[in-house]
Amino acid sequence: MAPTAVVFKAACPDCRARFELASDAIRLAIGASERTTFYSFTCPDCGTAVRKPAGERIVELLTGGGVRTLRLHH
Ligand SMILES: [Zn+2]
Repeated sequence: MAPTAVVFKAACPDCRARFELASDAIRLAIGASERTTFYSFTCPDCGTAVRKPAGERIVELLTGGGVRTLRLHH
C-alpha cells in the first residue's frame, strides 16, 4: 500500500483554533447508535480533549482515511 497523507480539518470548540489533523491523531468510537458514535482528538493549540458526534458520512470519511476505529458494541 502506498502511504497516503490524509488530513482532516478540525476546529477546537474551546480555543476556536482551526487546524489539520493526520488520521493517526484522531480516534473514532462507533457505538450502537449515532448518539454513541463520536470522534475525538486533542487540540494541538490548547491541549483540550475534544469529542464530537460522528454521523454516518463522517464515519465513512474517517474510516476511509485510515482513522483508528473502536467499536463499542459487539
Ligand atoms: Zn483548543
